[in-house]
Amino acid sequence: MTDTLSQAPTSSTSARIVTEIPGPRSKELHERRLKTVSAGVAATFPVYAASAHDAIIEDVDGNRFIGFTRGIGGMAVGHTNEAVAQAVADQASKVTHTLFAVAGYEPYIEVCELLAQHTPGNFAKKSVLVNSGAEAVENAVKIARKHTGRTEVAVLHHGYHGRTNLTSAMNYNMHPYGTGFGPLAGSVHHAPNSSPFHVGLTGAQAAERTITFLEKRVGASQIACLVVEPIQGEGGFIVPAEGYLPALVDWCHANGIVYVSDEVQSGMARTGTYFASEHFGIEPDLVTSAKGIGGGMPIAAVTGRAEIMDASHPGGLGGTFGGNPVSSAAVVAVFSEVEKRGLLNEAKRVEKVLKPALLDLQTKHPVIADVRGIGAMLAIEFADPATGKPAPEIAKSVQTHALHAGVLILTAGTFGNVLRFLPPVVITDDQLREAVAVMDDALSAL
Ligand SMILES: *Cc1c(COP(=O)(O)O)cnc(C)c1O
Repeated sequence: MTDTLSQAPTSSTSARIVTEIPGPRSKELHERRLKTVSAGVAATFPVYAASAHDAIIEDVDGNRFIGFTRGIGGMAVGHTNEAVAQAVADQASKVTHTLFAVAGYEPYIEVCELLAQHTPGNFAKKSVLVNSGAEAVENAVKIARKHTGRTEVAVLHHGYHGRTNLTSAMNYNMHPYGTGFGPLAGSVHHAPNSSPFHVGLTGAQAAERTITFLEKRVGASQIACLVVEPIQGEGGFIVPAEGYLPALVDWCHANGIVYVSDEVQSGMARTGTYFASEHFGIEPDLVTSAKGIGGGMPIAAVTGRAEIMDASHPGGLGGTFGGNPVSSAAVVAVFSEVEKRGLLNEAKRVEKVLKPALLDLQTKHPVIADVRGIGAMLAIEFADPATGKPAPEIAKSVQTHALHAGVLILTAGTFGNVLRFLPPVVITDDQLREAVAVMDDALSAL
């Protein structure tokens, strides 16, 4: 299987630019979009997708891009994965919708069984299925509050949790997520994080800083839950120092606080394990998942200790489309693909190929201040080599250069000075090398 995944590029597996960017069809769609689509929805790239497969996205003008971005990790299994597409088609012709709380169906239960099996922690687990990552985080907070009888919610600096009212309050960056949209939900407290590249504290020192803040500013006995991304996604793929997360989990457990691992971005085969929490040896009480689990279909979940997940009275959790049969069937197919095609190992292969190439790039281009991440969740951070100041303009110009060369890469980081590589784990070695060569060109041209 690895052989077919890593085969030499054919004409349909490498980038191909055949028009100016954006091309005429994309421009036309953009004109139409401006008339009826809210300006509040960002347009990161000016191109419109016509079709996609594995790591390649073809736009409406016939340009082909290697996608490091699309779906922001929604596609660990790759675009239009055959097994997922088949499962969706089959389920769509059986039952498309009933509302699980009204008339149940098997795929919902299968998803909960798979999540119980594959999320970290050797204890009885239950799940609730919802529609989006933000909704999963909202539900995790509801459940933790009901379970503990407490109100306060703790999060970390540089975190990201969604765009609903509560999750906007939980994000570190007020802009663009919160400005002008308030009042945002209260009872949310932002504590310092661990970010070895930015602040050279050990895991133990960083945990002490986080815990001291929460104990002094909030009071441990008031806190219902601590919600943490094991690797901070929008924050710039920040991997915490060793020992940091276990210390937070221990502190939560000593103080009756529910530890929630927000794995919406880092989960589902992304880092070479099913969930990134495994890399840090932690067993969260609750795990949120979304992006990667549905292979592109909208679905999300909260999974965790059965006694906590059962805290809500019947009717307190759920929603019309949560765990929709078609989306649930997609999740079952994604889990099966991860097993059958060895996608955990494919994520490790991506790291083995891409990380050394990025480190080489760093040696050549000192404006790359840091290379970090795990598995198929890697990032480079740009800073002025003289002053150490964040260099978002470099990230932006490499992103633009890459777009014109047929590579789509998203920026990240609180200062926008990070490029993140979040490819489908089925991306080939040649595609990875092609993308690195494009970035090398972009940096040399600066
Ligand atoms: C994307 C993201 C969310 C929000 O998910 P949506 O499906 O966009 O609502 C929440 N948490 C993390 C860590 C994310 O990366």
